[in-house]
Amino acid sequence: MNVPVYLDNNATTPMDPRVLEDMLPYFTQKFGNAASRNHSFGWVAEEAVDHARSWVARLIGAADSEIIFTSGATEADNLAIKGVFEMYRNKGNHIVTCATEHKAVLDTCKHIEKLGGTVTYLPVKEDGLIDPDELERSITDKTILVAIMYGNNETGVIQPVAEIAGIAHRHGVLFFTDATQAVGKIPIDVNTDGIDLMAFSAHKMYGPKGIGALYIRRKNPRVKITAQIDGGSHERGMRSGTLNVPGIVGFGRACELCSVEMNEEAIRLSALRDKLENALTEIEETYVNGSRQHRLPHVSNIAFKYTEGEGLIMTMKGLAVSSGSACTSASLEPSHVLKSLGLSDDLAHSSIRFALGRFTTEEEIDFAIGQVKKAVDNQRTLSPVWELFKEGITSQIYIK
Ligand SMILES: *Cc1c(COP(=O)(O)O)cnc(C)c1O
Repeated sequence: MNVPVYLDNNATTPMDPRVLEDMLPYFTQKFGNAASRNHSFGWVAEEAVDHARSWVARLIGAADSEIIFTSGATEADNLAIKGVFEMYRNKGNHIVTCATEHKAVLDTCKHIEKLGGTVTYLPVKEDGLIDPDELERSITDKTILVAIMYGNNETGVIQPVAEIAGIAHRHGVLFFTDATQAVGKIPIDVNTDGIDLMAFSAHKMYGPKGIGALYIRRKNPRVKITAQIDGGSHERGMRSGTLNVPGIVGFGRACELCSVEMNEEAIRLSALRDKLENALTEIEETYVNGSRQHRLPHVSNIAFKYTEGEGLIMTMKGLAVSSGSACTSASLEPSHVLKSLGLSDDLAHSSIRFALGRFTTEEEIDFAIGQVKKAVDNQRTLSPVWELFKEGITSQIYIK
């Protein structure tokens, strides 16, 4: 077993060695520019890109021509939202999104507001799900886009995507989803789900960093966007710039592996996740954040009340996990996602995200359980608040 044990697979995943193996020739011998039309170096690269593109498309039930390669999900989020806003300006300027989105979506929406757009940030219920009726009520005749994520990066909560798409379409509005955490983990079909645009990224699914994609529907309806990077007309003019051929090859292979392996992997990971979660919720005063039912198979986010997450993480030297705090400049802010679920600042700060992955073993889970139990126990032993709680004096100190 390698220590520290890596349970932060929602931040990034290690690359699968089979992916690396496929990529290597494209750095050295097969280094051609996929846009070079005059010689075999270019043709070899282009063929590799075409092959990869069809695996990326196949994983999500799309056509090859509906995949636009980007540098990752952040760029794909920007391209989808800004690209739709610019293209459909004459139709309207209103976008509906939700409070628990990734910063790549929320910050892009803030930018849209500076450009004169209006944005509705839907709240979520205690389980992390949006209320479809509230979504429907928020749509106006100026709405051009509904942008709601597929699976949440902090809690793993899965939104009712097909239902959301149905509501958007009933009102003639496009539906975009950031599916970075869900693609390659659970089966997704853009047609079954009614998705018009979808962002995802290779490095969250055992591929390389620096490559991702935006799916853009080409029929029923044909979705158009305004390019945000001009020059050279690569990717059908929607995203110029020399293609990252080794990255694309790796992304394609990563998608192929997920197509073949994700169903079995999901069963194995949810069993390990449940083992971890069941053991940790045996500890007094612990709470699972977000819906346990509508959730990605490999994620668990747990609040250990009367502890401080950052402190726990510092003492658990053998474990790589994330806390419910976001480091903004010098201060630790409680996670906006956990706050949206209704957690107090204290409870958000006491939360830890466990994200399992393809290479997580049962031995590592057993080790993690031991580490967390010890760390929580140690911190509470030293905590006057915990002592007061044990004496039954709680209400004035610490309320969820
Ligand atoms: C990681 C992540 C992103 C950013 O992806 P990059 O490829 O690193 O830019 C965006 N959205 C979600 C939900 C993510 O988890």
